[in-house]
Amino acid sequence: MNAKRILITGGAGFIGSALVRQLLATTEHEVLNLDALTYAAVPGSLAAVADHPRYRFVQGDICDPGLVRQLLTQFQPDIVTHLAAESHVDRSIDAPGQFITTNVVGTCNLLQQCLDYWQGLPAEARSGFRFHHISTDEVFGSLGPTGHFHEQSPYDPRSPYSASKAGADHLVRAWGHTYGLPVLLTNCSNNYGPFHYPEKLIPLTIIRALGEQDLPVYGDGQNIRDWLHVEDHVAALRLVFETGAPGETYAIGGNAERTNLAVVQAICDELDRLVPRSGGGTYRDLIGFVADRPGHDRRYAIDAAKITRELGWTPTVAFEQGIAATVRWYVENRAWWEPIMARRDPTRRLGTRT
Ligand code: NAD
Repeated sequence: MNAKRILITGGAGFIGSALVRQLLATTEHEVLNLDALTYAAVPGSLAAVADHPRYRFVQGDICDPGLVRQLLTQFQPDIVTHLAAESHVDRSIDAPGQFITTNVVGTCNLLQQCLDYWQGLPAEARSGFRFHHISTDEVFGSLGPTGHFHEQSPYDPRSPYSASKAGADHLVRAWGHTYGLPVLLTNCSNNYGPFHYPEKLIPLTIIRALGEQDLPVYGDGQNIRDWLHVEDHVAALRLVFETGAPGETYAIGGNAERTNLAVVQAICDELDRLVPRSGGGTYRDLIGFVADRPGHDRRYAIDAAKITRELGWTPTVAFEQGIAATVRWYVENRAWWEPIMARRDPTRRLGTRT
């Protein structure tokens, strides 16, 4: 594909930083990263590309109309890929307000500024422009033991996080239908991989195990998520904003359903191989069950047949291979996560042992 100018929001977060790194390493695109640097941002995730000639960073808020307008006018993006969000379900339960501000109001502001910018473009640039909103499978609610979410699944968000993402999804489609803005939408399952902020299940488990701390698992540990390696997600995002049809939605998933307990056990087994416990025994001995997250969705699973059929995407990283590489990355990259753990505002929600 010809070199494009891509404005990424939330590019200092987990998925956004993977997208920035992959775009600079494997394409000729120019990248502008707009990120407010909230607690969830880790500038160190972008250290390797900070001085790249095709990369620019601006610290700022997607809710700021003047700033977004100015960046659109100056940078003249062909593509806006919108990842900035409050993303942690547990935090949304304790303090939902910021989720509404960033995920709903921020997305609305971005859409409105992009619409003004797009309407002022010459015809050729107008037809090439894309606004790509990155969303989650959690907007569809919770599955029973069978079935999969897909592009036609009804919305049924059940946490403040997923409700705010659902609100953003509806706004994006409304700007597409009402104003003709060329929007794209993706709903993806749970991501994992390196540079994942250590409040989420996988990095938190690895780091707590390395510190010989107990490994809290919510409820009975049988909640199921469909795990996708972040590099596979990023490859899917690129295909969507480079070749996807405007107005379309694509569901993205790893075809790797695992219970939370199985994920934690897989991490323990990999750590047993890499860094055997000094006092003997297995890391599995540290696992303990804690009071469940309120409203905890039981099962998510994605049918990704459409993006495979229409855009030729399939996941490439098998879960066992990906989780082993991820564990190894955290063992070898303490310099990335130790400063975060030292200053981190610990998540309060992970409860006491049952
Ligand atoms: P993250 O929490 O790691 O990163 C979010 C980034 O957004 C941070 O760098 C933060 O500083 C930035 N940000 C927050 N508020 C902002 C604001 N007002 N203005 C500008 N920047 C702001 O999140 P992530 O896991 O990388 O997820 C990225 C996107 O993908 C989110 O929209 C999320 O809903 C979606 N998603 C995530 C997953 C997953 O498993 N992590 C799965 C599906 C979809």
